[in-house]
Amino acid sequence: MNYEAALDASLQRLHDEGRYRTFIDIVRKKGHFPQAVWRRPDGTERDITVWCGNDYLGMGQHPKVLAAMHEALDATGAGSGGTRNISGTTVYHKQLEAELADLHGKEAALVFSSAYIANDATLSTLRSIFPGLIIYSDALNHASMIEGVRRGGGAKRIFRHNDVAHLRELLAADDPAAPKLIAFESIYSMDGDFGPIREICDLAKEFNALTYIDEVHAVGMYGPRGAGVAERDGQMHRIDIINATLAKAYGVFGGYIAASARMVDAIRSYAPGFIFTTSLPPAVAAGAAASVRELKTAQHLRDAQQLHARILKTRLKALGLPIIDHGSHIVPVHVGDPVHCKMLSDMLLDQYGIYVQPINFPTVPRGTERLRFTPSPVHDPKQIDNLIRAMDALWRHCALNRAEVSA
Ligand SMILES: *Cc1c(COP(=O)(O)O)cnc(C)c1O
Repeated sequence: MNYEAALDASLQRLHDEGRYRTFIDIVRKKGHFPQAVWRRPDGTERDITVWCGNDYLGMGQHPKVLAAMHEALDATGAGSGGTRNISGTTVYHKQLEAELADLHGKEAALVFSSAYIANDATLSTLRSIFPGLIIYSDALNHASMIEGVRRGGGAKRIFRHNDVAHLRELLAADDPAAPKLIAFESIYSMDGDFGPIREICDLAKEFNALTYIDEVHAVGMYGPRGAGVAERDGQMHRIDIINATLAKAYGVFGGYIAASARMVDAIRSYAPGFIFTTSLPPAVAAGAAASVRELKTAQHLRDAQQLHARILKTRLKALGLPIIDHGSHIVPVHVGDPVHCKMLSDMLLDQYGIYVQPINFPTVPRGTERLRFTPSPVHDPKQIDNLIRAMDALWRHCALNRAEVSA
């Protein structure tokens, strides 16, 4: 085996398909979000505005979050020093889990290294807890859920995205006695559309299935206490397992599930992805807990985010740009081919100091390439103005279509 040649060939395949990823090197400026400094490959620097971050509410620079992290860092040092089972459970982890259980109105919560790990570890482990479990998974579920469902082995059914009639057909076709679980998301981040939570819970009740929701793009931002779309829609008590992240709207790091005490105890006891890995650094757990606590009451931030998203959508629509609008905080602008999408992104960054990463295949289907903006309370009217002017000029420059695409 020529290992070097195999590495070259695998990378070349990505280059040939236009799928090779290059990372933009940025340093965010605390106290000045969404401003950051971009370091070009040649070492020169430029001030930029970040328009594609997932720190949706700017909590990554919130004074209470930073104070909690400093306090824990100074009190306990850098890392936790162990797995949860072997010397790595601290008061900070327990407090964070209590904060999350309270947030979701569940008996318990369990913190993982990330929401990716939480999805993968939980979904792949449920099969050993419920022998013969059939998992019904939305076709557009996140890679971490797909991976968990796949790794668990066992039966799976993929239902067409948000298609509850198709889901019903699949449920009805299976043995009524078989254990079942429906896995879906509350907000799908590429289109910014909502999952049909109520309808799926109705089906789960009818077919005696468990429900598993990924609220990664909703926690902190929806619901009166920021518990997500299920909270907003009065459905949270009907969901068996809620998954989310501490790294997006909460602005820190880590992931979790919230569920019944029994469910959490079983996952805690059986999931290798929870058991055999070092727990979060105490400072990270402390910062995340402070952020969750703060956003239980910070309705003004949720309101400001929704307002800025509406302003941005209204102004892009007024220019005739084809935005995809499902009423969430995510603002995708449809470009429709990978070359233009990359070119627009490069020109925005280089000429206007606006950073928005192009979203190309395989993250989205070919022909639906897009720029995906994530307005936040920290984007001010001047930054919105700059973005609007830049998009107008570049759309004209590239002679792109201004026909509306329907959502
Ligand atoms: C980002 C994301 C995750 C993973 O969250 P991390 O905490 O960053 O690992 C899971 N699900 C969805 C839908 C996501 O977009």
